Amino acid sequence: MSWHIVRGKQKYIILYEDYVDITKLVRELCFHRSLLSLINVGEPDQLASILNKELMGTYIYLSLKVKKTREVLSLLYDLGFSPLDLQVVKEESERAIFCAHCHTVFITDDHPHAVCEKCNITLSVTNHWSTFHHAFLGSFEFEGDSL
Ligand SMILES: [Zn+2]
Repeated sequence: MSWHIVRGKQKYIILYEDYVDITKLVRELCFHRSLLSLINVGEPDQLASILNKELMGTYIYLSLKVKKTREVLSLLYDLGFSPLDLQVVKEESERAIFCAHCHTVFITDDHPHAVCEKCNITLSVTNHWSTFHHAFLGSFEFEGDSL
């Protein structure tokens, strides 16, 4: 999993779900001595009422599987959080990929090279996370490029 620590916030929240290991992230955030809440995301409905009470200046890490990440992100945006208030912790195994060729978003655990579901082009999966598409950018891979 990968993330970067955003400093200077009053409070941090980690939204996680079962089977996602957040131990390292928790340890790193505790090191910065800020308030920290861990919320196990069950049904997003309940989540809304919890997050509604949160103060400005709260920073949210989402450590969720791809499908849940999308649900929760749209909920957070509805509640008025902006992309600057949150960060998606990327799981190593399962990724949403945005195909640079046909603009399809598909989910795969096949990377760094993935074959687009729709147009069958082989993509190089980059670490560029698109907050607009909620996916990693998959760029073209040219034959012999690896040499
Ligand atoms: Zn494609």
